[in-house]
Amino acid sequence: MEAIINFLIEHQCPQCGAPAIMEETERLFVCKFCRVRSYLVASDVFRYILPSKAPESKELLYFPYWRFKGMLFSCAGNGVGHKFVDVSHQAVSSHVFPVTLGLRSQALKLKFVTPETEGRFLKPTQSLAGIEQCFDDRFGKTLPKPVLHHAHIGETISLIYAPFYIENRLYDGVLNSPTAGASIDDFDIDQLPAENPHWRIHFMATLCPNCGWDLDGERDSLVLLCKNCTSAWYPVGKRLKQIKFGKHPAGDSDAIYLPFWRIRPKIKGLDLQTYSDLIKVANIPKVVQPGWENIGFRFWVPAFKVRPKIFMQLSKNMTLAQFNPDLAVELPENRHYRINLPVTEANQSLKVNLASFFRPKNRLADILHTVNITAQSFMLVYVPFIEKHHEYIQPDLKFAINKNILTLSEHL
Ligand SMILES: [Zn+2]
Ligand SMILES: [Zn+2]
Repeated sequence: MEAIINFLIEHQCPQCGAPAIMEETERLFVCKFCRVRSYLVASDVFRYILPSKAPESKELLYFPYWRFKGMLFSCAGNGVGHKFVDVSHQAVSSHVFPVTLGLRSQALKLKFVTPETEGRFLKPTQSLAGIEQCFDDRFGKTLPKPVLHHAHIGETISLIYAPFYIENRLYDGVLNSPTAGASIDDFDIDQLPAENPHWRIHFMATLCPNCGWDLDGERDSLVLLCKNCTSAWYPVGKRLKQIKFGKHPAGDSDAIYLPFWRIRPKIKGLDLQTYSDLIKVANIPKVVQPGWENIGFRFWVPAFKVRPKIFMQLSKNMTLAQFNPDLAVELPENRHYRINLPVTEANQSLKVNLASFFRPKNRLADILHTVNITAQSFMLVYVPFIEKHHEYIQPDLKFAINKNILTLSEHL
């Protein structure tokens, strides 16, 4: 595994202005001084600057890098390969600036970009989608061949601006030392388009839009829960949007609930609308029972960060099981696991999920080229797992997750 970095972010409480440090993945911020809770959102992606040690007299030039931390999946004829990566890449194509952020110390504290940040900000001209190809090329070498389909499931996607300045040559402002890159003699940096740093992080109140009660969540939670009016809220842009959720009945009071995105897909190019279709598509050795043609097919994807291998196994097993009990519109009264994988990213995994169970395998290449899958709607579903000594077990699925793996995944 590549080095995984969890940066710390230096910021201020929006309520009292007290300085604060939070983790990169943190969204629900509780001020140590005024105790006010707020939820952080960005209008598109989070934008940070790396700290500068450049002499004060130097005008800083901020060069943008896409940062992608998450899972890469590749489907080949013989299966699905996966890798967890933490990578960065130029958001402006340039032979003068370093191609990646390089190995930066975890001790560096980032700051949010605000309109008050001084310096010249180069405008990103490479889209994230455009540079995902670079990640595939860089990491694809170790994955099964030939690659029929790639998926990128980002748990953290951000723009990080690194400070540089010019004094005869190009200096890295973080290290305050000359860069090793190309000479800037024949290169006019002023030609690169710049823009004003007009972004600002938004802090939302964590009050239930429905009843005004304080919403609950873990620090890195992407869904906030209201225990008063039993509702679940998902930040979309600068607003909280109510989402549908349900809970599986559990026989065991010791259950821990793991959250899943249950996604209703629109599939073009393959007949997979119902549970009975799934029996054929996945060649499951079961006799189709009456009524199964009325059970709508759904994809299931973990709503929490977990290693790519487990993520894939859980997605496949849950999707094949097509659990369909009556869901209770209740929040789990027991322990429940944090929701920290966005549904937008879960949607990126649907084709890989299909590839994991599609039979016969020799038709997979055709299918992956012609089938089109989009998410129509989604729901959050809590599924009970029973705690054993070393693992959590889903009894109906007969699936076990090692406790250590889950704990370690929190740091992904
Ligand atoms: Zn405060
Ligand atoms: Zn409420």
